[in-house]
Amino acid sequence: MRFQGGYAGTLLKVDLTHGQVMRQPLDEVLARNYIGGRGFTSRLQYDLIPPSVDPLGPDNVVIIAPGPLTGTSAPSSGRFTVGGRSPLTGILGDANSGGFWGAVLKKAGYDLILVHGRSPRPVYLWINDDRVELRPATHLWGKDTRETERLLREELGRGVAVASIGQAGENLVRYASFMADVEHAAARTGLGAALGAKRLKAIAVRGTVGVPIHDPAAFDRLSKELDEMLRCDSRSGQELPKYGTTALLDHHTAIGGVNVRNFQEGIYDDKEMVDGDAINARYLVRATGCYRCPCKCDRSTRIDEGEFAGTHVDGPEYSTLVAFGPSLGNNNLASILKANEMCNLYGLDTIETGNLIAFAMELRQRGILTQEETNGLDLTWGNYHAMLDMIENIAFRKGFGDLMAEGIVHASDEIGRGSERYAVHIKGMTSPPLDPRSVQVYNFRYAVASRGADHLRISAPGAYGLDSLPMQEAASKLMHWEKIVTIPDMMGLCKFPYSYYAETVERTLKKTLEIVPALYSAATGWAVDGDELLRAAERVIHTERAHNARLGLTAADDSMPPRFTEDPVHKGPSEGKRYTILEPMKKVWYQVHGWNEAGIPRREKLEEFGLKDIADDLERNGIDIRG
Ligand code: SF4
Repeated sequence: MRFQGGYAGTLLKVDLTHGQVMRQPLDEVLARNYIGGRGFTSRLQYDLIPPSVDPLGPDNVVIIAPGPLTGTSAPSSGRFTVGGRSPLTGILGDANSGGFWGAVLKKAGYDLILVHGRSPRPVYLWINDDRVELRPATHLWGKDTRETERLLREELGRGVAVASIGQAGENLVRYASFMADVEHAAARTGLGAALGAKRLKAIAVRGTVGVPIHDPAAFDRLSKELDEMLRCDSRSGQELPKYGTTALLDHHTAIGGVNVRNFQEGIYDDKEMVDGDAINARYLVRATGCYRCPCKCDRSTRIDEGEFAGTHVDGPEYSTLVAFGPSLGNNNLASILKANEMCNLYGLDTIETGNLIAFAMELRQRGILTQEETNGLDLTWGNYHAMLDMIENIAFRKGFGDLMAEGIVHASDEIGRGSERYAVHIKGMTSPPLDPRSVQVYNFRYAVASRGADHLRISAPGAYGLDSLPMQEAASKLMHWEKIVTIPDMMGLCKFPYSYYAETVERTLKKTLEIVPALYSAATGWAVDGDELLRAAERVIHTERAHNARLGLTAADDSMPPRFTEDPVHKGPSEGKRYTILEPMKKVWYQVHGWNEAGIPRREKLEEFGLKDIADDLERNGIDIRG
């Protein structure tokens, strides 16, 4: 037997054009080199999606990959990655989600789903352990994610997990999400629109087979050790269950790094009206969590009275809170919960949606957009009714919302009149909420992340201190964290408790570089250590870089928007700061990665990681990998 555990050894290839589903064996070389999850989605995007493919065309391939530890007894092991060419940016796209759906998929016996083609009419995929079929979904088309889940459970019975797109995906909003269990978003890069274009409304799964484990006794012992470590740590075991990620609002306020009014200011005067304590006091029902997670960072909230009575949502987490709160100058907490619920039901990326509205509000502030041009919506800071109307208009592509649904680059191109100056994006994806001017070396990660402005490719405890180190040393340390954070992404584990949320750096390193390799070895029967996982992670990083190079990206695309490089922060501890280290950091970043001056992996580096085929392919495509 090739696979002794961890992997089911089987993938599903779905051909929507011809209405066929095939079971195929998982490639062992792929598993050994790329582990799973984001490792699979990154390599398979390179292999299956040539540069000419339209993200919304039938030739895009949506790749859904849990990891080898997804659905096991390991803590926080409910994660999966969705990959494909991004409808938002046109480059490498992926998004990671928690919840329960990914674990159920794995327990049904699948390591991967490859979605090809385009169905002539709406369908859903029904995976009932080894029985898999495409079924009509005309009755689901036009329904939100909650209603879709309800209808599918009614149809298929109990114990079924559902992931679906909402109306935003159907309407090809370029930042539509794929929603697992209604509340858990694979949100970034717009792959919900890629699924909408394929007319795949949902994937329903019943999984009762389980995940094979090579050495169950060792696996259980290590899982318990990890569980204990996560519970005992003050950040993963206390801060996350008490506040979720919203505690970051305090951390970022302390350094003046909060996105306020489209990154004009770094501190929010009305913080206490929207922070984690306010949520807990007014709306929290209970802390909830994903599959086998002791950290429970989800906030199950409900509004019982007032204008938004009846709203219930698992959230907001920090990015969503800022996107619909300080970023819009909005201190109405109930409206933030409502916005979160709407995005989950329509299937919209909350960060992108909030940032697009912030962009429009700044254009209004500067007199670039008039109220007439926004269909009568008064897009002034803090107008939460206009915010909610905009969400609706984006999801259904109504009026001005139709333009906003195309993403920030297209919207600013169309609007013109200097509006691009206020479009805060990198490679077409808008910025996460931490202002990079506040902590410069750490947030260099936004400039070089493979899917656009992104805080999730690198997150590190204690990383603020990197600003005080010589640049070469800081870049090497940052790259080390880049690899460490990739490990949970490949394994199907949650990166919050396995990387960022730990009292000490040593504890993170013990979890990720000692216990996780031992867990993986116990699951698969393949003996690996932390160095080998770091090497696999680096292989993923070079593969993603090569993918984007083949699409024509160069060093010029590793950028920071003028909001950060030219405008000083206007308030708070970071007042007066601009982002100043972009070009010198790029130089050392490329050096420590073994990339040439254009930021493209050199042949020697690719061959060092067994990627001669990619080196040859880049050269065939006219990409210079020397220098
Ligand atoms: S830490 Fe939060 S997001 Fe991560 S698995 Fe646990 S509950 Fe889910």
